[in-house]
Amino acid sequence: MGLRDLTAAGQIAAIRAGETSSAELVEAHLAAIAADDVDAFLAVDAEGARARAREIDAMPERPPLAGVPIGIKDALSVRDVVTTSGSRMLEGFRPVYTATCVARLEAAGAVVVGKTNMDEFAMGSSTENSAFKNTLNPWDHGRVPGGSSGGSAAAVAERQVPWSLGSDTGGSIRQPAALCGIVGMKPTYGAISRYGLIAFASSLDQVGPFARSVEDAALLLRHTVGRDPMDSTSLDWPGEISTPTATDLSGMRVGVVDELMGEGIEPGVRAAVDAALGTVEELGGTVVPVSLPSALSGLATYYVLAPAECSANLARFDGVRYGPVAPAANLLDQYETTRGDLFGPEVKRRIMLGTFALASGYYDQYYGRAQRVRTLMVREFADAFEKVDLLVSPTSPTVAFPLGDRTADPYAMYMADVCTIPVSLAGLPAISIPCGLSDGLPVGLQLAGPAFSENALLGAAHALEGALAFDTRPPGLVT
Ligand code: GLN
Repeated sequence: MGLRDLTAAGQIAAIRAGETSSAELVEAHLAAIAADDVDAFLAVDAEGARARAREIDAMPERPPLAGVPIGIKDALSVRDVVTTSGSRMLEGFRPVYTATCVARLEAAGAVVVGKTNMDEFAMGSSTENSAFKNTLNPWDHGRVPGGSSGGSAAAVAERQVPWSLGSDTGGSIRQPAALCGIVGMKPTYGAISRYGLIAFASSLDQVGPFARSVEDAALLLRHTVGRDPMDSTSLDWPGEISTPTATDLSGMRVGVVDELMGEGIEPGVRAAVDAALGTVEELGGTVVPVSLPSALSGLATYYVLAPAECSANLARFDGVRYGPVAPAANLLDQYETTRGDLFGPEVKRRIMLGTFALASGYYDQYYGRAQRVRTLMVREFADAFEKVDLLVSPTSPTVAFPLGDRTADPYAMYMADVCTIPVSLAGLPAISIPCGLSDGLPVGLQLAGPAFSENALLGAAHALEGALAFDTRPPGLVT
């Protein structure tokens, strides 16, 4: 087994045991990125990473994360490293500060090796909306890695980094984790500071980890959660994120969401999820059917609220404050030409949709009504968690789809998040773990819990991970 096959926890242990160094690990992963055939990264900071690794190797006492490399979604600002959010609107933009979550990881001893590809401004489910390039699925290069954090997911599956950060507004961590056969978690809304995350829809955006083990996801979470004075929606984390050790589910009531197990779910996905439910029972859990009637209104609700918020958030990109500017005869022309030329079609579609939904006269009919459905959803989840400890469903209704398959059909693309969006609207934590294969492609199982139930969720995910014994190595990958 090579260095790159170790999990992050394994790499930390190897450094501590004197079997390797941060410098050696960074070099091994940089070489893998250079030989990349899935196009996961948009920018690589090889020199910065090498310098930081040397610094950490020279420390008399190693920080907790010991100099292990990490990839960061390009939606997160890293000082002096080009950060584009996958958009020409920010081509060449170098932030003047680092996102709090990244700064916390750096302080804990993680080494940032680069920025990963993503759908433009995190809008999409396949990473094909990136203005720069497509990222390929490590399991099948003719297929998408999912999105919007597709680069972060592919980089971890391909062992170019042991772990990475992504952001999830409606599913952008969980869905690509499912499609790439790895672990991805969206924590409770407010758990991780959004300061330095380029905003898409602020009432939904959350940062979270990608990893090849539940233990690594917990470790990354431990070093990122907690209140940040720079983000007023961030929360004091109650207690600590502990290392998950559970090996069974005895006494756990596991609800299966009826509405997310039927129509639209591919038979192969359904079969893998059913098999995982059998494992839940073998581990001592009780499987209970649960109904969340509003779950199927999730997509419609999200596609009013998220565009409404994005139309306000993206107003700041006008060619004056950030990034490139289109030449024009006067200021109005300059705004129009810059936004017209530099935003991609999906981003423009959402800005127009959001502007329309917020227009006076339509506001109550669309935005107001969507907010009411969101409240209903929060209540339905609260009722469900009176009866069960956690809720499970497929993470994505299908396995990874072929590149180009859905680019002409926004609705087909939006469907990719039908199972993840309700949890996002309710602000709850959820984790996706790989639970099996369908036609040789990974299937993800989503586990969701009440707010602040991260430790319980990670514990249950850890027990299941042990029993399912999914091999995260894509076929043919040479390390
Ligand atoms: N795919 C969804 C969208 O396009 C979710 C994206 C996300 O979570 N950032 O909006």
